[in-house]
Amino acid sequence: MLAFRAAALRRSVYVTWVVLILLLGQGVRNAIIDDPRFLGSAAGFVVVLALSTAVDWDRALPKRLGPWLAWAWATMSVLALGTMATVETMLATTQPLFAGFVVLTGLTLDRAKHAFVSVLAASLLAMATFLQGTADPVADIVIPVLTVGVVALATALLGAQFEREANRSAERLEELTQQRVDFERLYAVSATLAGAESLDEGLPQLVGTICRFLDAQVGVVFLYQPEDHTLQVVSPMWVNSHTLEVAELRTKVSEGGILPQVFRSGKPMRLDRIGETPEHYGILGELGLSQALVAPLRVEGFSVGVIAVGDPYRGTFRDEQLEQLASLAAPAALVLSQLGRYEAAAEMTRRMQEIARMKTDFVSVVSHELRTPLTSIIGSLDTVVRPELAPQSESARDLLESARRQATRLQRLIEDLLMVSRIDRQAVPVFPESIELQPFLEDVASSITGIDQLTIAVDPPDLVIRADPDHLGRVFINLLENAAKYAEGSPVEIIGRAVKSRVDISVIDHGPGIPAAQRHRVFERFTQVEHSDTRTAGGTGLGLSIVKGLVEAMDGQVALTDTPGGGATFTISLPPASVETFSPV
Ligand code: ADP
Repeated sequence: MLAFRAAALRRSVYVTWVVLILLLGQGVRNAIIDDPRFLGSAAGFVVVLALSTAVDWDRALPKRLGPWLAWAWATMSVLALGTMATVETMLATTQPLFAGFVVLTGLTLDRAKHAFVSVLAASLLAMATFLQGTADPVADIVIPVLTVGVVALATALLGAQFEREANRSAERLEELTQQRVDFERLYAVSATLAGAESLDEGLPQLVGTICRFLDAQVGVVFLYQPEDHTLQVVSPMWVNSHTLEVAELRTKVSEGGILPQVFRSGKPMRLDRIGETPEHYGILGELGLSQALVAPLRVEGFSVGVIAVGDPYRGTFRDEQLEQLASLAAPAALVLSQLGRYEAAAEMTRRMQEIARMKTDFVSVVSHELRTPLTSIIGSLDTVVRPELAPQSESARDLLESARRQATRLQRLIEDLLMVSRIDRQAVPVFPESIELQPFLEDVASSITGIDQLTIAVDPPDLVIRADPDHLGRVFINLLENAAKYAEGSPVEIIGRAVKSRVDISVIDHGPGIPAAQRHRVFERFTQVEHSDTRTAGGTGLGLSIVKGLVEAMDGQVALTDTPGGGATFTISLPPASVETFSPV
């Protein structure tokens, strides 16, 4: 309302200047410019107006003297007008101005001052008319005075209405401003989540933000520890823009005290007199606070802790500050619990990684330890089954042969495990060499038994690639052995092609294939697809995972598709760098 009054006052002063100029013009026209009353009142007007123009009403009005200055402006102006009205020939001109002036004061002064100025205006008008003499007092005095009175009343009502509206708008504006501030604060508190990855990092930021908003010097969070049913101070505390590590401080929730009370009831509290009897306030007293605000930290209806902000010196927090802490505690609780969960998840991932690493190390160590004795067992068996040393008895020879087969199988398993642990550790060494593909594939195929019909086609036939021959050989041995095992009796084709400087080599069989639903899984280790009948083929479920690991170690990819008409097609794609010479298609 004051802003409205100040604006109205400014404009009223300008209007009065215009009125004064009109009056002066009228004085000149009526040749009364040298009349001392006219001159005196005009000079009075000029002084009052000059002073009123100089006043900064926006700043003056809220002060104690401000309304009185406005009142002085109105009173002096009315007095000047009244004096001017006593000059002959000026009555008619000034008469409506009294009413006009009353309108201005209705909008610019409070009710009592407006009433005063209105009464003064009416009296001066009546007096001036009386002094000038009248034949009809009712028409010349009573009616103009009544007019001024009615105008004054109407403007007073209008002014009151304006005032109510203005107050309502001001309240609404204040509410909206407060809401904006609240939203900004909530946002700032929630935003600490985005910036922090751990409780250690996030907590001081969070508490610091809240303390700054509430103008508090100390901020501390207590989190509920379900194991021992306590509220424990989460270090560090926030003290005067610094973080302070605190010793382990905790209070039992079942024991009385302010913190457990706020935790259990979920109701925030304002404490003004901690300093007088600190021993009654538990940890808050121990922390040296004199006054504090305490609010519960709740997530989804459950209390997870308590937040306290306070000051070491005496004073009183305001009620709004308590409300603000309560409303900031909600996002703060969310932030803290998210950070807690994030930390727990990160810790879990760390532990899982650690366990995975330990497992890989274990497999690697055990496999190494097994390999050495096994190699000598196989060597001995190889020697013993030689014709010159082989036992006479056929069954003894069969047993030795079987032992040799099983030992070789075991050796293969150990080699596979070692390779898997190397793949896991991403420690597969790659030594690329130039390989002429067609003879290389023929060589690998010759070591495979169990495939009756195997065709190899490389396009262009003289294709030379760069790859690690050991890894590539192992990849094709695994794929071909699988084809022999799982697509028994079916013809198998190996097709190698250079496609746009990439090399695709497919191993195609016409067996039962692999159901689409299992396809993404077969490259995972220890995965075996059960076919309809009982499983007859052996295997460990490591072969394809090794294929994938080795191909990827050479920067390639492996894909599994259906063979048209049924069967499985495994395609190895090696990158452009693997192509040494080829004739583009
Ligand atoms: P293993 O052969 O030791 O069981 P692999 O990792 O080599 O393990 O193969 C995983 C599974 O994928 C096999 O158990 C088998 O069920 C399926 N599989 C692999 N190759 C073929 C194929 N050519 N045709 C049908 N199924 C296959």
